[in-house]
Amino acid sequence: MKKVSGNSMQQPHHYFWLNPYREMAFTRCPKCEGKTKIRKKRLVIDVLNKTLLFANVTNKYCPKCDLIITGQGKIENILSQLTFFDERSIRPDDYFIFGTIERADHNKHMNQGPYPSDCIKLVNPFIDKLLFKIRPAGWYKDK
Ligand SMILES: [Zn+2]
Repeated sequence: MKKVSGNSMQQPHHYFWLNPYREMAFTRCPKCEGKTKIRKKRLVIDVLNKTLLFANVTNKYCPKCDLIITGQGKIENILSQLTFFDERSIRPDDYFIFGTIERADHNKHMNQGPYPSDCIKLVNPFIDKLLFKIRPAGWYKDK
């Protein structure tokens, strides 16, 4: 994983998948095929190595795998509101989602301090980011 800064963060929480399949809802987990739930999480997003963004996003969540599934389109909709992207479209390497922040910690930060370096310490980084490739239904030739 990319290193965000020298500051130590909280304990890692959750696995994470940024889902590029806009048309698929993932009511079932792509890993264990169990039913997913809906969870709101505050995702911490590094934008262009310039800004830390805290986005309150509704995600799919598999409790068994501890996997958060977030729609890439959802994130890019949020990012497109930023002035950085007035002039051009968003590219995948423009942003990096590296963890979550608890609501209480986020509020504490909002009340106390303007320093992003302090805020980093309140972030729970992801345990790991996963990648799933979904095969559309249909015919496949044997290789
Ligand atoms: Zn699962």
